Amino acid sequence: AAKHSGRNHFRLFDDGLSTRLEMRRDCERDLSQALAEGELEVWFQPIFGPDGRSVTNLEALVRWHHPVHGWVPPADLISAAAMAGLTESLLRFILEQVCAMLCALRTRGLHDLSVAMNVSPREMAQIAVDEIVLGRLRVLGLPATALEIEITEETALDIEAVQGKLLALSRAGIRMALDDFGTGYSSLASVRQLRADRVKIDRSLVTGLSEAEDKRGLVQAVLGLGRALGLEVVAEGIETADDLATLQAMGCPFMQGYHLGRPQPRDDILRFLDARPRADVQALRLREA
Ligand code: C2E
Ligand code: MG
Ligand code: MG
Ligand code: MG
Repeated sequence: AAKHSGRNHFRLFDDGLSTRLEMRRDCERDLSQALAEGELEVWFQPIFGPDGRSVTNLEALVRWHHPVHGWVPPADLISAAAMAGLTESLLRFILEQVCAMLCALRTRGLHDLSVAMNVSPREMAQIAVDEIVLGRLRVLGLPATALEIEITEETALDIEAVQGKLLALSRAGIRMALDDFGTGYSSLASVRQLRADRVKIDRSLVTGLSEAEDKRGLVQAVLGLGRALGLEVVAEGIETADDLATLQAMGCPFMQGYHLGRPQPRDDILRFLDARPRADVQALRLREA
């Protein structure tokens, strides 16, 4: 009921007057009900092999269309969840959707497609991500290798509790990816500490790289790092055919971006996959090793 009175209240005013602050407050207020009523969704964006056509895995991205404020940026959703004490509920909801997708893929015989889920620094620090994730996989009979966890470098790798969780996850066979690589304080130490299987080059370095020599230099350096350390490298934020061609010429093994495929609801992505060639993921891994 609060949600509906909220809507009426805001309709009295111009939508443009609703500030980010109001949005955050309302999200915090409405999130619990939204979770309970299935208003949240998890969409999936395909990640492609070097041919830019075959799909190697999917990234899960949370989506919430708020009745008043429209699409809520995931970062705001995550902080609203924290303010509302719903961090663990939100993680469990997303994990459930990810597991359902893994089951759907396996039903279709797509056993080699893994699904990546993002875990924020706060989630990693505050909740027992390792126990929750490994517990669900066990119950559902899903192999740990089917799941990848993407974390950013703000994740406090120096905190022992966080290290313990990351270690438990990677020892169990969960694949680990360092997200948004090349931003902030990207350091080689965190690649090592994390025992990352892959690094994802931030889209600020990727978008427009065909026309930016400095970006190409940095991307080339990360590709070299990947080869030297046996890490898979993903370029995210590929928005044009030129950027795709440039990355392919540079030998980038994994690619993601609007030009190749947008995040889509579960059923749309399953239809999309049915119409796509399948990558020999195992062969790609060997090639990279
Ligand atoms: P991210 O993990 O780096 O995810 C990639 C973001 O880039 C996604 O935005 C995706 O929609 C967007 N993207 C993909 N290809 C392109 C492209 O070619 N051009 C442009 N401009 N953007 C592209 P989204 O879904 O808004 O998510 C933003 C961030 O929020 C994510 O960055 C991730 O850090 C976080 N996030 C999203 N979903 C979740 C979630 O379920 N849990 C947690 N903890 N964080 C999430
Ligand atoms: Mg990510
Ligand atoms: Mg990223
Ligand atoms: Mg990002």
